[in-house]
Amino acid sequence: MGPEMKHTLGVPDVPLHPILDKIACTEHLPSLPAVAVRVLELIRQDEVAITEIAETIAQDPVLSAKILKVVNSPLFGVPNNISSLPQAMIILGLRTLKVMVLSFSMVGELAKLRDENFDHELFWRRSVTTAVSSSLLAERCDPRVQDEAFVAGLLADLGILAANQCARSDYQPVLKLYHEGTCPLQDVEGRELGLTHADMSAKLLESWKLPERLILAARYHHDDAIPPVDEDGHCLTRLVWTAALISDLFCQDTPSTDLDPLKKTIVQALGAAVPVGGVPLLPGDIDSILEQVDQYVCQTAKNISLQIGETKSYEELRVMAMAQLAQLSVSAEMDLAAASQKAAEAQKRIQKLSTEKRALTHSANTDELTQIANRKGFNDEIERAVKYAQDTGHSVGLLMCDLDHFKQINDTYGHLFGDEALKAVGEVLRGIEDRAHFVARYGGEEFAVICFRSTLDDLADIAEVVRREIEKIDLKYGTQIVRITTSVGAAQVADPMGEMTVEALIKRADACLFEAKRAGRNRFIVAR
Ligand code: GH3
Ligand code: MG
Ligand code: MG
Repeated sequence: MGPEMKHTLGVPDVPLHPILDKIACTEHLPSLPAVAVRVLELIRQDEVAITEIAETIAQDPVLSAKILKVVNSPLFGVPNNISSLPQAMIILGLRTLKVMVLSFSMVGELAKLRDENFDHELFWRRSVTTAVSSSLLAERCDPRVQDEAFVAGLLADLGILAANQCARSDYQPVLKLYHEGTCPLQDVEGRELGLTHADMSAKLLESWKLPERLILAARYHHDDAIPPVDEDGHCLTRLVWTAALISDLFCQDTPSTDLDPLKKTIVQALGAAVPVGGVPLLPGDIDSILEQVDQYVCQTAKNISLQIGETKSYEELRVMAMAQLAQLSVSAEMDLAAASQKAAEAQKRIQKLSTEKRALTHSANTDELTQIANRKGFNDEIERAVKYAQDTGHSVGLLMCDLDHFKQINDTYGHLFGDEALKAVGEVLRGIEDRAHFVARYGGEEFAVICFRSTLDDLADIAEVVRREIEKIDLKYGTQIVRITTSVGAAQVADPMGEMTVEALIKRADACLFEAKRAGRNRFIVAR
């Protein structure tokens, strides 16, 4: 261990390990490109002309092009187009430039490695996702370290590649176990080898004599016990740790059913890490950061010529989570594997889901007239929904809708006309099923809508959509246009202190419906 590697985090050093020795001697790894070595030497000198560094880098046109592309990409938010390396150096500073030269030249070499038993695309997808996520989080929390955060994220997992390259016979069984199971890689490594790829990455970066901050960020990128702020007052380590979680989300095989816990973890982790005077992160910020990840990942991979395979957008992850959830609530017969396949498929699937759902249990659970779920279908679904609320603590809402003065419609225009009206209402409700999750004919001219994980405001929104859409239906009686209206009562099973039962939920929604009728009909009331 060189004198540069003092442990500022006070965590005991990794024990000596034969794999680390192999990584440290790097004989199976590409050597540092000559340009990078020279740039490092120049930067270590006290006085060095920027032009000299620029000339050195310019000897490697591929590297120069990558650097310029990356600094000009929207991720770095540099206001004017940077067209030359000296200009890049002035704007980014020598430290960042050094880090970029090193990482891009190394990544360039490492990306040439090939091993058919190793998923190189997945590896680079993960690394670029960590880089982009760290950078986006840093932009929000601590812009001073944005460039370094990008590079630290890019390098954090290099130990995986190094171990696969230098200690293949030890490491491939570990990767195999990891791919067969559901444990995080670092857990499998810890169990099987007594050290993790984070240790290996740190060793590699150390042997390449990279700056200590980058080494520490790599070493602790999966360590839950790191302090929020590094000794130097920045939060680089914590940023990369958080970015690694985001990378797991985007690169995992099995989609999550619930993205909220991750968002909460991110907010908590970075809440403590925001430097004095900074603005704390809110859950809404996380969404907008996650929404940008995919686009930047693709762009960055292209800029530094990395093949990363197919990526997923946050929207796709959300749809997949919904598809997973819906499938869990529908039936085990549905093909779970389909949901983990390409998200585009999941997207189509979820649109078809309500149709498929009906097809599955058609005869028993479908109302023949309106072709939406019948009372039995409703009963099954509301049981499941309330159980879901009890198990997860997430809200489940219920709208009860009763058509206004429907007896008069029958009396005036006849029963068959009344049936047509009910069919039209069924169609309207089917149209909102995506938003609302589940709709049913509760009985007669009463309908029910179940909403998963919606706030009271969402419930009010959906209630208003239902009310308005039904009011808009044009029913033709000869040349005459007949209109119908509905009253809606809405309630939620969200109160952990209250009674979380199906009966209590229906009762509360019914009470609001009754209120809405009494208040004059054609309106909604939400139990608050
Ligand atoms: P309110 O605004 O208070 O709800 O008045 P309403 O007339 O809608 O309420 P009421 O419960 O008195 O009447 C419900 C009517 O719905 C009576 C019944 O004939 C009619 N209805 C129930 N099921 C069907 C059906 O399948 N087809 C037709 N055409 N009418 C139905
Ligand atoms: Mg009624
Ligand atoms: Mg009625």
